[in-house]
Amino acid sequence: MSRREEVLAEMGLAPVWRLKVSEKKESIDDWIPLKAEVSGCRACGLAGTRTQTVFGVGDENADWMLIGEAPGAEEDRLGDPFVGQAGKLLDNMLAAIDLSRAKNVYIANVLKCRPPGNRNPEPDEVAKCTPFLLRQIALIKPKLILAMGRFAAQTLLSTDASIASLRGRVHQYAGVPLIVTYHPAYLLRNLPDKAKAWEDLVFARRTMAGL
Ligand code: URA
Repeated sequence: MSRREEVLAEMGLAPVWRLKVSEKKESIDDWIPLKAEVSGCRACGLAGTRTQTVFGVGDENADWMLIGEAPGAEEDRLGDPFVGQAGKLLDNMLAAIDLSRAKNVYIANVLKCRPPGNRNPEPDEVAKCTPFLLRQIALIKPKLILAMGRFAAQTLLSTDASIASLRGRVHQYAGVPLIVTYHPAYLLRNLPDKAKAWEDLVFARRTMAGL
């Protein structure tokens, strides 16, 4: 024990300090096997059509975790989630509430591989890939999850309810508060719903402030 730790221990502070750090922070060693498993995964047919897997991006200790559907063409090419048009919209909306993948948000998808032609994920692909997402959530331990779009919301909440009916309240996923909003790609096609997505973000920010 260092002198500093001895002093903190005498003051009754050292164990508390240790507990808080280890509660939230995972070491890089916890991530390495998961990243390796994802990049080598051949559990479903998408392994044969992908350019590369798209693991996730952002702060691995973030309080905010955003979850989308699956990589598109740009994501498959570049290896990061939400780097196309939908990603630009997402980044702009996040910036408006002082959030960014560069500093305080982690972004991942339900599927780690692109479905060909951007078709919807198949149930067996979701079933095979979801354990990776759950392990990411377990490592990040976010304070709040924002599920973007039908696939993320329905997968995490085990429901087939619509986005419209799931918005505006706080759900729980494995003890983590979860808020549902529209998928950014949907917003690009349905501009009037951008205002609703903005309401969702403001609601999420207010919820986070109260946690
Ligand atoms: N749509 C998603 O759901 N995820 C991405 O990474 C890109 C587009």
